[in-house]
Amino acid sequence: NFISAVVPPNEIGVKFDDIGALEDVKRTLDELVTLPMRRPELFSRGNLLRPCKGVLLFGPPGTGKTLLAKALATEAGANFISITGSTLTSKWFGDAEKLTKALFSFASRLAPVIIFVDEVDSLLGARGGGFEHEATRRMRNEFMAAWDGLRSNESQRILILGATNRPFDLDDAVIRRLPRRIYVDLPDAQNRMKILKILLAKEKLESDFKFDELANATEGYSGSDLKNLCVAAAYRPVHELLEEEKKEGASNESSYLRPLKLDDFIQAKAKVSPSVSYDA
Ligand code: ATP
Repeated sequence: NFISAVVPPNEIGVKFDDIGALEDVKRTLDELVTLPMRRPELFSRGNLLRPCKGVLLFGPPGTGKTLLAKALATEAGANFISITGSTLTSKWFGDAEKLTKALFSFASRLAPVIIFVDEVDSLLGARGGGFEHEATRRMRNEFMAAWDGLRSNESQRILILGATNRPFDLDDAVIRRLPRRIYVDLPDAQNRMKILKILLAKEKLESDFKFDELANATEGYSGSDLKNLCVAAAYRPVHELLEEEKKEGASNESSYLRPLKLDDFIQAKAKVSPSVSYDA
């Protein structure tokens, strides 16, 4: 079972509106992928408009690449297949040909479909010289051959969507097959505010919660870091309540959890710091 997920579009549960910021990325993906998947007839006439068969999302970890891939499948009405580069190469040594054929024939039966290849660099990374495992090389060649077969059959609505934090590790041959490359950046303060508003949409917050102050206090945090920070902050009133109950020797199912305050987040920063460091 080399595919980590196959999900029909109505069961994915994430759409573009659930993703904060990244407006340009969403707009580009809509034009490149959603439109041709939803309206293939508009792309079958002349030579200028061709459905895109490969897109690369690259950028620091935790910036929402996986989230974007899932939401894109929802928006495009496509089935979503997810595979992870490192799992493919480590678990399936030796069976490259069979495996790749199975994947692509499965995918063509599921079209329209988006095949999301996370850590695409480990499946399709630069040729590793003499050190590269023979099976990895075969897997990559098989994958690329199957992919080319796909590209020559333009009528199929199948998109390979790769994601990587290490774009410089990708082989030229792969870069060529991913003609559209989209940078998914860390959010600036304004975009952190948008992400925080989405992450905290259903939480009870103190009145007049200062989103802008929190956004300014989280320089360098990715979307994923912000999510972790919010979870850590949300634990604070829970721990307080449990402490109080312990003191009073009481426990009450209808316990009152106080709203979250800005200070909960500031304190939580001690536990969750930005995961991307430029000093390293
Ligand atoms: P990696 O490169 O480490 O695989 P990634 O870029 O694929 O990371 P995701 O896995 O999509 O990042 O993000 C992790 C989690 O962070 C998401 O499930 C989501 O909860 C949160 N998150 C990240 N970016 C955003 C965003 N722009 N809006 C809302 N939530 C976000």
